[in-house]
Amino acid sequence: MHELGTINYVIDTVEDLCVENSLTQVGSVTLEVGEVSGIIPQFLEEYWLYAREKTKFLKEAELKIEPIEAITYCENCQKTYPTMKYAKICPYCGSGQTYLLRGNEYIIKEIEAM
Ligand SMILES: [Zn+2]
Repeated sequence: MHELGTINYVIDTVEDLCVENSLTQVGSVTLEVGEVSGIIPQFLEEYWLYAREKTKFLKEAELKIEPIEAITYCENCQKTYPTMKYAKICPYCGSGQTYLLRGNEYIIKEIEAM
């Protein structure tokens, strides 16, 4: 249940920010989600609608989801390439000595007050 943990984290973080900044209601939260994070946006949206009911500042808040493209780096030829297309094998040199640069994370990008 990746998505439930993600939503709880986002709600806790945003509610703390509301207290710190004296905001009363949040209009929307923009969340960037990595392509290979294993998080399914559709599930995020479903949990969001359920979880926001129990919040103080997010009852009306909309969740906006933006993808982060996954990028892999090849140690052998030092090039980068899109992970979703080629996975662990470098399309330039065929090496398997690669690692993920980004695309495994989620980031709260923007919070809009009402
Ligand atoms: Zn390579």
